[in-house]
Amino acid sequence: MKANQILASLEARHPGEKEYMQAVKEVLLSIEDVYNEHPEFERAKIIERLVEPDRIVTFRVPWTDDKGEVHVNLGYRVQFNNAIGPYKGGIRFHASVNLSILKFLGFEQTFKNALTTLPMGGAKGGSDFSPRGKSNAEIMRFCQAFMLGLWRNIGPDTDVPAGDIGVGGREVGYLYGMYKRLTQEHTGTLTGKGLEFGGSILRPEATGYGALYFVEQMLDDINESIAGKTISVSGFGNVAWGAVKKATELGAKVVTLSGPDGYIYDPDGVSGEKIDYMLDLRLTGDDIVAPYAERYPSATFYPGKKPWEQKVDIALPCATQNELDIEDAKKLVANKTLIVAEVSNMGCTAEAVDYFLENKACFAPGKAVNSGGVATSGLEMSQNAMHLSWTAEEVDQRLHQIMHDVHEQCLRYGKQADGFINYVRGANVAGFMKVANAMMQQGV
Ligand code: GLU
Repeated sequence: MKANQILASLEARHPGEKEYMQAVKEVLLSIEDVYNEHPEFERAKIIERLVEPDRIVTFRVPWTDDKGEVHVNLGYRVQFNNAIGPYKGGIRFHASVNLSILKFLGFEQTFKNALTTLPMGGAKGGSDFSPRGKSNAEIMRFCQAFMLGLWRNIGPDTDVPAGDIGVGGREVGYLYGMYKRLTQEHTGTLTGKGLEFGGSILRPEATGYGALYFVEQMLDDINESIAGKTISVSGFGNVAWGAVKKATELGAKVVTLSGPDGYIYDPDGVSGEKIDYMLDLRLTGDDIVAPYAERYPSATFYPGKKPWEQKVDIALPCATQNELDIEDAKKLVANKTLIVAEVSNMGCTAEAVDYFLENKACFAPGKAVNSGGVATSGLEMSQNAMHLSWTAEEVDQRLHQIMHDVHEQCLRYGKQADGFINYVRGANVAGFMKVANAMMQQGV
């Protein structure tokens, strides 16, 4: 494989998809040497097939606001690759959503899902609809309109969507309600459902919990442990919430949260009722974190800034793609941060990732660190298929095992002769080998 040639022809075919190119480039460069040991992959054009999604569904989403005004948004589902199982991945509602972002997310999801050890292919969907400032009734009508455009393309054994940025339990409920009315099925075609109608216990917390289980193993490898460590977290949504809950439970102290307006630094730690207040903040519809500092005087609000300037032991980007850039990476390395683990998908820019690796920083990518979310969605699918519910202990124990296995796969392909663990390479090669082998066995 000539990674640069493939990237150039992809760019010519799909000009301007910068996030997608970034995700593909990272994977191709890190798998290149392993790939070249397998001439059969080259003959079967595995890479050329992998970089084009199986299918992209686009549809228009007309909906009416509370004043009776009609709006038209775009809806998408990128069914990326189903070599190892039904398409699986979240739905994102955010003003920034476009095809480049959904293709990058679907591509990442394909390898992430492969790492979970569960049989799930990769997909992603969403809309450029912004939930910011919308009423509950508007959210409901939008979700219903979105599902009207999507329902024929999904199903329990074909494609199982879930949440992502802007889509939480409330939205999954509305989406599922509409799907059920249209199909008269109750087969669990979405995950992240309410506990009363087939959802899995621990799914809301799972991305953050899984991330902390992964971080514990990273720490173990450098002979450290989590208790007493300080942590900076960005974001304040579902993912950050789960991460803060588990970090606190394990005896660490989370000192930052952030929003599009800036970040708060709370030296007393975000714990106790403050954790639930994080989620209440979102319900105001304003999507800003500043009110935290008004409510809790121990905290200081830094408008327009990012939390990576604070000296901590562990940094956890939990907000969105490319939120941590080269300047932030330099600060974290200069501050001798023990661990940087992406909980958001592609939370760091390519330059930041290169900087971490060049400086032998202990850095792990989102597709490994945040895989506990989709893994628990996989566990929800299993419970739905068996028509039963597991206990919290059972789900947590399986999640632990999965995160352990994801970490082992990173070590298998990422541990260097000098002992340094390149988690980027480890995760990419392990995910790729599984998908490529499955594609090989299924023919062209
Ligand atoms: N959106 C989440 C992710 O990026 C979860 C997807 C799912 O549960 O299907 O992995």
